[in-house]
Amino acid sequence: MIRTRNRRRRGEALLLLLEFQRLDHDAEGACASAAVKLLTPSLDSASVPAWETGMTKYSSILGTVGHTPVVRINRLAPAHVNLYVKIEAFNPLGSVKDRLALGVIEAAERSGALKPGQTVIEATSGNTGIGLAMVCAAKGYPLVVTMADSFSVERRKLMRFLGAKVVLTPAALRATGMLDMAIALAEKNGWFLTRQFENEANADFHSKTTAQEILADFAGERLDYWVTGYGTGGTLKGVARVLKAERPETRVVVCEPADAALLASGEIQQRKPDGSPAAGHPAWKPHPMQGWTPDFIAKLTGDAVALGLTDQLLSIAGPDALRYSRALAQQEGIFVGITAGATFAGALKIAETAPAGTTLLAMLPDTGERYLSTPLFADVPAEMTEEEQAILASVTP
Ligand code: PMP
Repeated sequence: MIRTRNRRRRGEALLLLLEFQRLDHDAEGACASAAVKLLTPSLDSASVPAWETGMTKYSSILGTVGHTPVVRINRLAPAHVNLYVKIEAFNPLGSVKDRLALGVIEAAERSGALKPGQTVIEATSGNTGIGLAMVCAAKGYPLVVTMADSFSVERRKLMRFLGAKVVLTPAALRATGMLDMAIALAEKNGWFLTRQFENEANADFHSKTTAQEILADFAGERLDYWVTGYGTGGTLKGVARVLKAERPETRVVVCEPADAALLASGEIQQRKPDGSPAAGHPAWKPHPMQGWTPDFIAKLTGDAVALGLTDQLLSIAGPDALRYSRALAQQEGIFVGITAGATFAGALKIAETAPAGTTLLAMLPDTGERYLSTPLFADVPAEMTEEEQAILASVTP
């Protein structure tokens, strides 16, 4: 994949070379070496990550995390707005959670909280586990994941394929059940619990990468709305605080499931002293947006609200999430999951009544391939349809 930053850097380098031809002799050296630096591909190193170098040759898969493309919506957007999506499926393991996985593991390595060879454990609806499985495989840490047995089978299989152990908890015990199991296992075995819902390294990595990518992509252009959902709230807190500081005119829109509109309910989340949930949230009901809104308001999400980083709340109906995930695939060629469809539905709601020329950016958190066994694909047959049989029959005697 040729990354946009790379193309931009090549453009910058060519401009520098042209400039160099016009300049006097003294300036030539500096200009030429800057141009050569931009044009010469070289190995990244652990200390120079991909999101800074823009290179396409990497010393580890971990260098490919982040730097996801922002893509214009051409057919599904109303003509009077500019609607863009940031496609996190371009991360190496196909979701926004690859960022969190790398961020929390490297922060724990730096602080000494994670020792070489120590087992890592986390409670996850899947994408965090898949991202962690990649990071742990690449760095040589064993990984155990606790996951409710209601999440899609491909998620379990992917984690096991990447070498992780997956311990299933009953869906009836909800997200808090898988979290309690992870805490119990970490305490009993001395494993490192990544604590994705409270870990500041989660939000920090989004401030350092996701937010900077958005600033760069919209530099010198309007950005009126940034639209996201929340699971841990790492994306929300990490990106929104940078936008508030750097692009105060950008309105932060937060989407949540209509069946589990925890933030809109106004009901306070009970917490333990470490910020983790003390009980499930009373406004929660099961919803189809896997990865959004667990049955509690995570500390990072709560922080974003308390810090005044959110401007608008939207609730999204489950069927709309599925409908727009399918529409993105079939009318834009953008293959993403259910929460992506949900966030996109939220962005469209804003777009409908926004003034002409409004620019919006919606986060699309993961790939559609993660949902083959879920209701998203329920209407996709494995056998030939009547129409397909008719196509075949048109050449078969
Ligand atoms: N969508 C999906 C599919 C996810 O897996 C997640 C993370 N659980 C999110 C959205 C929300 O991301 P965050 O944890 O950064 O709030």
